[in-house]
Amino acid sequence: MIPAAFEYYRPKDMAGVLAVLEEHGDDARVMAGGHSLIPMMKLRMADVPHLIDLQDVGGMSDIEIDADTVRIGALVTQADIIDHVALGVAAPILREAALQIADPQVRYMGTVGGNVANGDPGNDMPGLMQCLDATFSLVGADGARDVPAHEFYEAAYMTAREDDEVLTGVSFPLPKGGYAYEKQKRKIGDYATAAAAVQITKDGGMCTSASIAMTNLSDTPVYSEAAGAALVGTSLDDATVKAAMAAMLDDIDPTEDNRGPIAFKKHVAGVILRRAIERAWSRA
Ligand code: FAD
Repeated sequence: MIPAAFEYYRPKDMAGVLAVLEEHGDDARVMAGGHSLIPMMKLRMADVPHLIDLQDVGGMSDIEIDADTVRIGALVTQADIIDHVALGVAAPILREAALQIADPQVRYMGTVGGNVANGDPGNDMPGLMQCLDATFSLVGADGARDVPAHEFYEAAYMTAREDDEVLTGVSFPLPKGGYAYEKQKRKIGDYATAAAAVQITKDGGMCTSASIAMTNLSDTPVYSEAAGAALVGTSLDDATVKAAMAAMLDDIDPTEDNRGPIAFKKHVAGVILRRAIERAWSRA
């Protein structure tokens, strides 16, 4: 498959990126790793007359961890996340999730910024970022702004990012307690049939907080506040876990596709969430 003809730009700084975006409006699109955008251009599902490669723009490739916060630049790849020892200690759910994305070739190129900005309901990082209560940093002609991950996703491929804005990085509070990223897929390299991101804190055998987000079970990631709330103040007996699963099922809205009918997806979502809750609890 060959994409339609396009102009290729490789600016050295953000000012150069924003200038092309301003000149060409929604005829221009930034490219990070290109592992979602280029396939869509080749399939003629994305028409991009002006393609702006972000690879030479500095300042978006660092991972910073301080006492309270983790900051990850938009151009950090999934492979960078897997290899970053301090991040693996500070926020191990990221590594666990990144290892379940696609295959090594894709992970060497696919970036955190591209994964969260794309708005593909199948991408793993948007739900993960909601679970971690992340904030996305954007810059555009009108300056910089931050958008909570919980408010970023509007519909499939529709986000709060304006056409002339670039996502520069994500940040989130240092996660506490136990974690699990659980994903069911048809085969290695596939997007999720269902995935669950869970962070849980425990004190004296009781759950003190729980954050739960689901992937590829609606046209946006689903942060299930009710599922998390069902666990808090309990010791996570079987009835409580079932209540959390029921609350999550009320929040998702899967559609039938080549990953299965709705009833099957709901069944898988429940199984995946139970496994994630149990693993996060055992690590808390
Ligand atoms: P690109 O392809 O460069 O860009 C994607 C979109 O985001 C474009 O619209 C682009 O304009 C926009 N964009 C990119 N960066 C920015 C930015 N900084 N600011 C604003 N907009 C930006 N992903 C998963 O999560 N889970 C999977 O299981 C999975 N499986 C895959 C399997 C295959 C075979 C392939 C090819 C990809 C798979 N992916 C999967 C997607 C992969 O992780 C992508 O690379 C990633 O989602 C997008 O990152 P990218 O850097 O390649 O973005």
